[in-house]
Amino acid sequence: MSHFTLITLILSATTQALAAIIALRGLHLAGSFRLSWICISAALFLMLERRVIPIWHIYAGRQEDPLNTFIGLAVSLLMLCGVIGLKRLFQLMHANEVELERLAHTDFLTGLNNRRYFMKKVKQELIRAVRYDSAFSLMMLDIDFFKKVNDTYGHHIGDIVLQKVARHCQKTVRSIDIIGRLGGEEFAVFLPESGYDRAYDVAERLRSGIEETLLECVGDNLLHVTVSIGLVSTGHTGNSIDELLDLADKALYEAKTSGRNRICRSQ
Ligand code: GH3
Ligand code: MG
Ligand code: MG
Repeated sequence: MSHFTLITLILSATTQALAAIIALRGLHLAGSFRLSWICISAALFLMLERRVIPIWHIYAGRQEDPLNTFIGLAVSLLMLCGVIGLKRLFQLMHANEVELERLAHTDFLTGLNNRRYFMKKVKQELIRAVRYDSAFSLMMLDIDFFKKVNDTYGHHIGDIVLQKVARHCQKTVRSIDIIGRLGGEEFAVFLPESGYDRAYDVAERLRSGIEETLLECVGDNLLHVTVSIGLVSTGHTGNSIDELLDLADKALYEAKTSGRNRICRSQ
Protein backbone atom coordinates (compact mmCIF):
# COMPACT_ATOMS: atom_id res chain seq x y z
CA MET A 1 0.00 0.00 0.00
CA SER A 2 1.50 3.32 -0.97
CA HIS A 3 1.29 6.34 1.26
CA PHE A 4 0.37 8.31 -1.82
CA THR A 5 -2.87 6.32 -2.26
CA LEU A 6 -3.76 6.69 1.41
CA ILE A 7 -3.13 10.47 1.37
CA THR A 8 -5.21 10.77 -1.82
CA LEU A 9 -8.07 8.88 -0.17
CA ILE A 10 -7.95 10.98 3.01
CA LEU A 11 -7.86 14.20 0.95
CA SER A 12 -10.74 12.96 -1.14
CA ALA A 13 -12.87 12.13 1.94
CA THR A 14 -12.08 15.51 3.54
CA THR A 15 -12.98 17.40 0.35
CA GLN A 16 -16.21 15.45 0.03
CA ALA A 17 -17.14 16.15 3.67
CA LEU A 18 -16.35 19.86 3.16
CA ALA A 19 -18.58 20.02 0.05
CA ALA A 20 -21.44 18.36 1.96
CA ILE A 21 -21.08 20.69 4.97
CA ILE A 22 -20.89 23.83 2.79
CA ALA A 23 -24.00 22.68 0.90
CA LEU A 24 -25.91 22.10 4.15
CA ARG A 25 -24.87 25.46 5.59
CA GLY A 26 -26.13 27.23 2.47
CA LEU A 27 -29.63 25.82 2.85
CA HIS A 28 -31.13 29.07 4.21
CA LEU A 29 -30.06 30.88 1.01
CA ALA A 30 -31.77 28.47 -1.37
CA GLY A 31 -35.24 30.05 -0.99
CA SER A 32 -37.70 28.34 -3.31
CA PHE A 33 -34.93 25.91 -4.40
CA ARG A 34 -34.79 24.52 -0.87
CA LEU A 35 -35.89 21.01 -1.83
CA SER A 36 -33.35 20.76 -4.67
CA TRP A 37 -30.64 22.01 -2.34
CA ILE A 38 -31.59 19.43 0.32
CA CYS A 39 -31.32 16.71 -2.37
CA ILE A 40 -27.86 17.91 -3.43
CA SER A 41 -26.67 18.11 0.20
CA ALA A 42 -28.01 14.61 0.95
CA ALA A 43 -26.32 13.19 -2.19
CA LEU A 44 -23.02 14.78 -1.17
CA PHE A 45 -23.28 13.24 2.31
CA LEU A 46 -24.16 9.81 0.91
CA MET A 47 -21.17 9.95 -1.46
CA LEU A 48 -18.97 10.37 1.58
CA GLU A 49 -19.39 6.64 2.12
CA ARG A 50 -17.57 6.01 -1.19
CA ARG A 51 -14.62 8.05 0.04
CA VAL A 52 -14.40 6.53 3.51
CA ILE A 53 -14.83 2.80 2.73
CA PRO A 54 -11.60 2.57 0.62
CA ILE A 55 -9.62 3.94 3.59
CA TRP A 56 -11.15 1.20 5.71
CA HIS A 57 -10.20 -1.34 3.04
CA ILE A 58 -6.57 -0.21 3.04
CA TYR A 59 -6.33 -0.65 6.81
CA ALA A 60 -7.90 -4.11 6.36
CA GLY A 61 -4.99 -4.94 4.00
CA ARG A 62 -6.77 -4.68 0.64
CA GLN A 63 -5.26 -3.00 -2.41
CA GLU A 64 -6.92 0.08 -3.92
CA ASP A 65 -6.47 1.10 -7.55
CA PRO A 66 -4.41 4.35 -7.52
CA LEU A 67 -6.18 5.60 -10.64
CA ASN A 68 -9.59 5.14 -9.01
CA THR A 69 -8.51 6.96 -5.86
CA PHE A 70 -7.15 9.82 -7.96
CA ILE A 71 -10.42 10.06 -9.93
CA GLY A 72 -12.30 10.01 -6.61
CA LEU A 73 -10.27 13.01 -5.40
CA ALA A 74 -10.84 14.89 -8.67
CA VAL A 75 -14.61 14.29 -8.46
CA SER A 76 -14.74 15.47 -4.84
CA LEU A 77 -12.77 18.61 -5.71
CA LEU A 78 -15.10 19.36 -8.62
CA MET A 79 -18.11 18.92 -6.31
CA LEU A 80 -16.57 21.28 -3.74
CA CYS A 81 -15.93 23.95 -6.41
CA GLY A 82 -19.46 23.51 -7.78
CA VAL A 83 -21.06 23.84 -4.34
CA ILE A 84 -19.02 26.95 -3.50
CA GLY A 85 -20.00 28.51 -6.85
CA LEU A 86 -23.70 27.70 -6.36
CA LYS A 87 -23.65 29.04 -2.81
CA ARG A 88 -22.13 32.30 -4.07
CA LEU A 89 -24.82 32.48 -6.75
CA PHE A 90 -27.53 32.08 -4.10
CA GLN A 91 -25.88 34.74 -1.94
CA LEU A 92 -25.82 37.13 -4.89
CA MET A 93 -29.45 36.41 -5.74
CA HIS A 94 -30.45 36.93 -2.11
CA ALA A 95 -28.57 40.27 -1.95
CA ASN A 96 -30.19 41.38 -5.24
CA GLU A 97 -33.62 40.44 -3.91
CA VAL A 98 -33.08 42.48 -0.73
CA GLU A 99 -31.82 45.44 -2.77
CA LEU A 100 -34.74 45.23 -5.22
CA GLU A 101 -37.20 45.21 -2.34
CA ARG A 102 -35.47 48.22 -0.78
CA LEU A 103 -35.58 50.10 -4.09
CA ALA A 104 -39.27 49.30 -4.56
CA HIS A 105 -40.01 50.85 -1.14
CA THR A 106 -37.71 53.84 -1.28
CA ASP A 107 -37.89 57.26 -2.81
CA PHE A 108 -34.66 57.47 -4.82
CA LEU A 109 -33.95 61.16 -4.10
CA THR A 110 -34.53 61.36 -0.35
CA GLY A 111 -34.18 57.75 0.76
CA LEU A 112 -37.55 57.99 2.57
CA ASN A 113 -40.42 55.55 2.09
CA ASN A 114 -42.09 56.21 -1.24
CA ARG A 115 -45.80 57.00 -1.38
CA ARG A 116 -46.90 53.42 -2.03
CA TYR A 117 -44.89 51.91 0.80
CA PHE A 118 -45.82 54.74 3.18
CA MET A 119 -49.51 54.04 2.53
CA LYS A 120 -49.01 50.31 3.02
CA LYS A 121 -47.24 50.79 6.36
CA VAL A 122 -49.78 53.34 7.60
CA LYS A 123 -52.66 51.03 6.66
CA GLN A 124 -51.15 48.33 8.91
CA GLU A 125 -50.69 50.85 11.73
CA LEU A 126 -54.29 52.03 11.37
CA ILE A 127 -55.58 48.49 11.79
CA ARG A 128 -53.50 48.17 14.96
CA ALA A 129 -54.61 51.59 16.27
CA VAL A 130 -58.30 50.78 15.74
CA ARG A 131 -57.96 47.34 17.36
CA TYR A 132 -56.24 48.70 20.49
CA ASP A 133 -58.10 52.00 20.42
CA SER A 134 -54.81 53.88 20.57
CA ALA A 135 -54.08 57.47 19.64
CA PHE A 136 -52.38 58.44 16.39
CA SER A 137 -51.72 61.50 14.27
CA LEU A 138 -50.92 62.15 10.66
CA MET A 139 -49.24 65.24 9.31
CA MET A 140 -48.72 66.43 5.79
CA LEU A 141 -45.85 68.78 5.19
CA ASP A 142 -45.25 70.93 2.10
CA ILE A 143 -42.28 73.19 1.35
CA ASP A 144 -43.39 76.78 0.84
CA PHE A 145 -42.72 78.47 -2.49
CA PHE A 146 -40.51 75.59 -3.58
CA LYS A 147 -41.01 76.42 -7.23
CA LYS A 148 -39.19 79.69 -6.53
CA VAL A 149 -36.19 77.74 -5.14
CA ASN A 150 -36.02 75.76 -8.39
CA ASP A 151 -36.51 78.84 -10.53
CA THR A 152 -33.90 80.89 -8.66
CA TYR A 153 -31.17 78.34 -7.94
CA GLY A 154 -31.92 75.51 -10.35
CA HIS A 155 -33.40 72.05 -10.07
CA HIS A 156 -30.20 70.58 -8.64
CA ILE A 157 -30.27 72.91 -5.62
CA GLY A 158 -33.99 72.14 -5.29
CA ASP A 159 -33.10 68.45 -5.05
CA ILE A 160 -30.55 69.18 -2.32
CA VAL A 161 -33.17 71.14 -0.37
CA LEU A 162 -35.55 68.18 -0.64
CA GLN A 163 -32.84 65.89 0.72
CA LYS A 164 -32.07 68.26 3.59
CA VAL A 165 -35.73 68.58 4.55
CA ALA A 166 -36.10 64.79 4.40
CA ARG A 167 -33.04 64.28 6.62
CA HIS A 168 -34.30 66.84 9.10
CA CYS A 169 -37.69 65.10 9.29
CA GLN A 170 -36.00 61.74 9.78
CA LYS A 171 -33.82 63.09 12.59
CA THR A 172 -36.75 64.77 14.35
CA VAL A 173 -39.26 61.92 14.46
CA ARG A 174 -39.06 58.70 16.50
CA SER A 175 -38.03 55.41 14.95
CA ILE A 176 -41.60 54.08 15.32
CA ASP A 177 -43.00 57.02 13.33
CA ILE A 178 -43.54 56.41 9.63
CA ILE A 179 -42.30 59.02 7.25
CA GLY A 180 -42.68 59.18 3.49
CA ARG A 181 -42.30 61.42 0.49
CA LEU A 182 -45.75 61.63 -1.06
CA GLY A 183 -44.41 63.28 -4.20
CA GLY A 184 -42.77 66.53 -5.31
CA GLU A 185 -42.07 68.69 -2.25
CA GLU A 186 -44.71 67.01 -0.12
CA PHE A 187 -43.96 64.73 2.83
CA ALA A 188 -46.12 62.89 5.36
CA VAL A 189 -45.48 61.59 8.85
CA PHE A 190 -47.66 59.09 10.72
CA LEU A 191 -47.21 59.14 14.50
CA PRO A 192 -48.53 56.08 16.31
CA GLU A 193 -49.45 56.43 20.00
CA SER A 194 -49.55 60.21 19.64
CA GLY A 195 -52.52 62.48 20.25
CA TYR A 196 -52.82 66.07 19.12
CA ASP A 197 -50.57 67.67 21.78
CA ARG A 198 -47.61 65.41 21.14
CA ALA A 199 -48.06 65.56 17.38
CA TYR A 200 -48.25 69.34 17.51
CA ASP A 201 -44.94 69.45 19.44
CA VAL A 202 -43.31 67.28 16.78
CA ALA A 203 -44.81 69.37 13.97
CA GLU A 204 -43.54 72.55 15.63
CA ARG A 205 -40.05 71.06 15.99
CA LEU A 206 -40.12 70.13 12.31
CA ARG A 207 -41.37 73.54 11.23
CA SER A 208 -39.00 75.62 13.37
CA GLY A 209 -36.03 73.30 12.73
CA ILE A 210 -36.42 73.62 8.97
CA GLU A 211 -36.88 77.38 9.23
CA GLU A 212 -33.70 77.73 11.29
CA THR A 213 -31.27 75.13 10.00
CA LEU A 214 -31.67 75.26 6.26
CA LEU A 215 -30.42 78.82 5.96
CA GLU A 216 -26.83 77.99 5.06
CA CYS A 217 -27.32 74.55 3.72
CA VAL A 218 -26.40 74.71 0.07
CA GLY A 219 -22.85 75.80 -0.70
CA ASP A 220 -22.64 79.58 -0.93
CA ASN A 221 -26.36 79.99 -1.45
CA LEU A 222 -28.17 81.31 1.58
CA LEU A 223 -31.57 79.74 1.42
CA HIS A 224 -34.57 80.48 3.51
CA VAL A 225 -36.91 77.53 3.35
CA THR A 226 -40.08 77.11 5.36
CA VAL A 227 -42.78 74.47 5.47
CA SER A 228 -46.50 74.43 6.09
CA ILE A 229 -48.03 71.52 7.95
CA GLY A 230 -51.54 70.06 8.04
CA LEU A 231 -52.27 67.88 11.05
CA VAL A 232 -54.98 65.35 11.75
CA SER A 233 -55.19 63.58 15.14
CA THR A 234 -57.21 60.90 16.92
CA GLY A 235 -60.94 61.36 16.77
CA HIS A 236 -60.84 60.16 13.19
CA THR A 237 -60.14 56.53 14.07
CA GLY A 238 -62.78 55.24 11.69
CA ASN A 239 -61.16 56.91 8.69
CA SER A 240 -59.22 55.18 5.97
CA ILE A 241 -55.72 56.33 5.04
CA ASP A 242 -57.10 58.14 1.99
CA GLU A 243 -59.64 60.01 4.12
CA LEU A 244 -56.97 60.91 6.68
CA LEU A 245 -54.65 62.21 3.96
CA ASP A 246 -57.55 64.18 2.57
CA LEU A 247 -58.22 65.77 5.98
CA ALA A 248 -54.51 66.54 6.47
CA ASP A 249 -54.42 68.04 2.97
CA LYS A 250 -57.35 70.34 3.79
CA ALA A 251 -55.55 71.46 6.98
CA LEU A 252 -52.40 72.01 4.90
CA TYR A 253 -54.37 74.13 2.44
CA GLU A 254 -55.55 76.23 5.36
CA ALA A 255 -51.94 76.65 6.55
CA LYS A 256 -50.99 77.80 3.05
CA THR A 257 -53.84 80.24 2.61
CA SER A 258 -53.45 81.71 6.10
CA GLY A 259 -49.84 82.75 5.52
CA ARG A 260 -47.61 79.61 5.22
CA ASN A 261 -44.79 78.56 7.61
CA ARG A 262 -47.39 77.37 10.11
CA ILE A 263 -49.30 74.36 11.38
CA CYS A 264 -53.05 73.95 11.00
CA ARG A 265 -55.20 71.22 12.47
CA SER A 266 -58.04 69.39 10.80
CA GLN A 267 -61.33 70.17 12.58
P1 GH3 B 1 -46.67 76.44 -2.22
O1 GH3 B 1 -46.05 77.29 -1.17
O2 GH3 B 1 -48.08 76.84 -2.51
O3 GH3 B 1 -46.56 74.98 -1.90
O4 GH3 B 1 -45.87 76.71 -3.56
P2 GH3 B 1 -44.81 75.78 -4.25
O5 GH3 B 1 -44.04 76.60 -5.21
O6 GH3 B 1 -44.03 75.05 -3.23
O7 GH3 B 1 -45.73 74.72 -4.97
P3 GH3 B 1 -45.90 74.35 -6.49
O8 GH3 B 1 -46.85 73.21 -6.51
O9 GH3 B 1 -46.28 75.56 -7.29
O10 GH3 B 1 -44.49 73.90 -6.97
C1 GH3 B 1 -43.91 72.71 -6.57
C2 GH3 B 1 -42.61 72.58 -7.32
O11 GH3 B 1 -41.89 71.41 -6.89
C3 GH3 B 1 -42.79 72.42 -8.80
C4 GH3 B 1 -41.91 71.27 -9.20
O12 GH3 B 1 -41.07 71.62 -10.28
C5 GH3 B 1 -41.07 71.04 -7.97
N1 GH3 B 1 -40.64 69.67 -7.82
C6 GH3 B 1 -41.41 68.56 -7.74
N2 GH3 B 1 -40.62 67.46 -7.59
C7 GH3 B 1 -39.34 67.89 -7.59
C8 GH3 B 1 -38.08 67.23 -7.48
O13 GH3 B 1 -37.97 66.00 -7.35
N3 GH3 B 1 -36.96 68.01 -7.50
C9 GH3 B 1 -37.04 69.37 -7.63
N4 GH3 B 1 -35.91 70.06 -7.63
N5 GH3 B 1 -38.21 70.00 -7.76
C10 GH3 B 1 -39.35 69.29 -7.73
MG1 MG C 1 -44.98 73.71 -1.89
MG1 MG D 1 -47.06 70.88 -3.07
